[in-house]
Parts: sequence; C-alpha cells; structure tokens
Amino acid sequence: MNAVAELIEALPAGRVLTDPDVAGSYARDQTFLEPGKPLCVVVAQTRDDVVATMRWATEHRVPVVPRGAGTGLAGGATAIEGCVMLSLARMTEIRELSPADEIAVVEPGVITADLDRAAREHGMMYAPDPSSHEISTIGGNLATNAGGLRCVKYGVTRDSTLGLEVVLADGRIMDTGRRTMKGVTGYDLTGLFVGSEGTLGVITSAILRLRRAPAVPPVTIAAEFPSPRAAGDAVAAIVAAGCQPSLLELMDRNTLEAIDDWKNIGLEPGVNAMLIAQAEGSVPGDAAEMARLCEANGASFVAVSSTQEETDELIGLRRLAYTAKERLGACLVEDVCVPRSVLPDMITIIEEVAARHDAMICTVAHAGDGNLHPVFIFDRGLPEPPANVWAAADEVFRAALRLGGTLTGEHGVGLLKRRWLGLESGPVVNEVQQGIKRVFDPLGILNPGKAI
Ligand SMILES: Cc1cc2nc3c(=O)[nH]c(=O)nc-3n(C[C@H](O)[C@H](O)[C@H](O)COP(=O)(O)OP(=O)(O)OC[C@H]3O[C@@H](n4cnc5c(N)ncnc54)[C@H](O)[C@@H]3O)c2cc1C
Repeated sequence: MNAVAELIEALPAGRVLTDPDVAGSYARDQTFLEPGKPLCVVVAQTRDDVVATMRWATEHRVPVVPRGAGTGLAGGATAIEGCVMLSLARMTEIRELSPADEIAVVEPGVITADLDRAAREHGMMYAPDPSSHEISTIGGNLATNAGGLRCVKYGVTRDSTLGLEVVLADGRIMDTGRRTMKGVTGYDLTGLFVGSEGTLGVITSAILRLRRAPAVPPVTIAAEFPSPRAAGDAVAAIVAAGCQPSLLELMDRNTLEAIDDWKNIGLEPGVNAMLIAQAEGSVPGDAAEMARLCEANGASFVAVSSTQEETDELIGLRRLAYTAKERLGACLVEDVCVPRSVLPDMITIIEEVAARHDAMICTVAHAGDGNLHPVFIFDRGLPEPPANVWAAADEVFRAALRLGGTLTGEHGVGLLKRRWLGLESGPVVNEVQQGIKRVFDPLGILNPGKAI
C-alpha cells in the first residue's frame, strides 16, 4: 500500500482529498508566492484526525502545512512541494463560553468574528479583531499572533490566550497553560506556540480570554490631515498625552483614493491622510482630548460621532482598505512596527522611499501600536514584485529596524520575510530558535522553511 492509501485508511472516510485541482485550491494564502504541489489535503474534523495525520507524517517523513482560512499575508500557509495541507477550518465548535470565568474554549477553525458575536450574547467580547476577522480563523490568529484594530487597548492575540491543546509532530497531545487569569508553572509554552506559524505543533483547541463588552457605544473621531506626517504627529501626541484609545487607525491618500474609486466616499482634494480614533464610554474625556490633539497637529477637519451607525460606517471603511488596494494590482503587504514616538519619522521615510524607487505604496497603520502596512502595488501580470518594489521594501525594513522597530508586527515571517530575519535576530537568537524547533519537531516535518 502506498503512503497516501495508508493515510486514507487511517482517517474516517472523506477526510483526505487527493484531486490535484482540489488540493491546489488549498495551496495558497493571500500572497503572490507560487506554492509547491501538495501530495493531498486532510480536512480534519476532530483532534483524532490531526493525531492520525501527524503519526502518519512522522512515519513517512512527509511535511505538513497547517492551514486555517488561508488569509495569511506572509506565506505561512503556502504549500511545500509534496506536503500534506492540514486544514483545520472544519473544526468550528465553541465548546465553552463562561462569562463567570471570562473565558471561551474553542476549536481552531472558529471564525474570529463568530467568537466575538457569540461572546456578545453574554455581554462579553473577544477583543483581538484583525481586519480579516470575518474570514480568518482563531487557529490562524493564534499561529500568527494576529493583531487588529482593538489591539491598541486590549493587546494582541497572545494577550488573550490562556492555554492551548496542541498535537505535536509525532502525534502526542500537549496541553499548555491554564483556565486561570494567572499562573507561572513552568516555562510559558502557550506564549511560545502563539506566533509559531505552524512550525512547532498543530493547535487543536484554545482557552481564550474574554472581556466585558463596553456598555455604551464608543465615541468615534474621524480627522482629515493635509499630510500623513501630520496625522502621525497627532498619533504620537495622543499616545504621549496618555489617552487610551480603543482604536487608532491611519490611512494615507493612496489608500483613501483606492476606497473612493470603489465606494465613492467623496474624498476632497488636499486630504492626504485620515485618522480614525475611538474612545470607549469609560474614558469619555479621551475623545475630546484626541479631537483637540488632532486639531492642534494640523487636522483640517475633525468629526466626532457617538451613533453606532456612523461608527460602523467609519470602521467599515477602514476594513475595506486591503480589498480596495487589491483592485489596483497585485500587492506586497508589509507589516513593520516601530516605537510609537517615531511613527511620524517612519511615515516620512515610506513616502521618500516610494518617490525614490518610483513605487506605488498605499499605507494603512494600526497607528496606536506603531504598526504600519505599506502595501506595494505592482502589475498583476508579474509573477512577483519587480526589482524597484523589492528595493523599496528592503529600505523600509532597514529603516524600521534602524528606528528600533521590527520586521513584522502581526502577520508573521512566513516565507516572505525570512531573507531579512538576520537583520533583526542575531546568531544567538537564531541558534536558540533552531534548538527549540528541534525539540518539538526533530524530523523537521512541520511547516519546514517557514518563520525562523
Ligand atoms: C483583508 C485582510 C486583512 C487582514 N488584516 C489583518 C489584521 O488586521 N491583523 C492581522 O494580524 N492580520 C491581518 N491579516 C492577515 C491574516 O488574516 C492573519 O494572519 C490571520 O491570523 C490568518 O488566519 P488564517 O485562518 O487565514 O490562517 P492561515 O493563513 O491559514 O495560516 C496562517 C499561519 O498559521 C498557521 N496555522 C493556521 N492554523 C493553525 C493551527 N490550527 N495550528 C498551527 N498552525 C496553524 C499556518 O501554517 C500559517 O503559518 C489580514 C488579511 C487579509 C486578507
């Protein structure tokens, strides 16, 4: 019996998909990267399916690429030649939702926004909200330590993760962490697995922290600026003043134009950046102070709204940004993060780099976190970004590191950023990371070639 036939026999009927066209549809994430050809896809429905797949993969030394919804922007879920794509997207049960303990226990295929909606039925919320929250899975969020719009106040996915159930490369099951708000027994394996991009184990369930949903709708501010730099200055001032925004997002002119071309939002000439900020009801003074700081830093127009409809409309615009840019061409989405005090400098550098390399860059930023997404647009007919785009991206990475920042705030390294890793992590960090990888995955079958 060949290896795939053995896998089919080890799993319940229908779990293994071998049709090359079907397998090919699981092979890409949202990057332009050309995937390898998967051997097959396993559509796991239970933890036991994952265990059986990993035991088989260990026995046959076959690489396994875990996959959630494939919305990743770093190539983490891109197929490797001859791999098994292990889809967790059908493991969608919310097993427990406890307002008393402020936790939820969920399977990895749960869509992020579905968990938030389920929590809100109990007066709670699941805070991490990547812009992709309607399409990404909790497993993918955990594996990339996803951020999002609310993270400026509530932190990233790791800050909402208390424990994990993980299937290791050889099929053993490991429970990390706990249901309690605190705990220091042993090394923090939960923290280690969050952001490990499917290279250490397959997450099959998670204990997640919920928060009380705000009792009143937030106050939302939209401010228009003559330049992205001025908007960046306003962000730095808001942070320095000690305001606690629950959201602080920036969009540059190119992004606003892309949205305007699509949705006709009535973009005025001279508006070269927009800030969207929110303050929750518990800190009403912050809204007025943030509006004042926007004006003090050159905003040409500031609108304050406390109706849920207007708020939803503004946030909806921000969430459209990536899709609007995709209409312009192929996208290289970058994800640098800098200390918040130097956000204005980073914005200026991105504008200079775009001009110097004649590159079309649309920038959005989770500005309150110092996390910028310069999106490089290039010809859709090209298999990968042209040389001027790579050169511009390289300068952006180096500048972020020079300013004390990092290559990736929330998307992960995947395949896309590996070539720059050495600039950020020294040889000792690299050696330790390789050592950790060997402990969990001695045969190197879990998402090899990614993340580290
Ligand atoms: C329109 C758009 C907006 C976005 N906005 C944001 C944003 O605001 N913030 C943000 O952080 N990201 C954002 N992203 C990127 C992406 O949505 C996130 O990285 C998300 O966390 C990926 O989830 P996924 O289910 O699609 O994972 P996938 O893309 O399928 O996988 C991502 C990584 O996780 C690994 N993985 C998946 N599931 C598991 C598992 N169960 N166990 C172990 N490893 C696993 C994969 O191997 C891969 O390395 C955006 C993407 C798009 C397309």
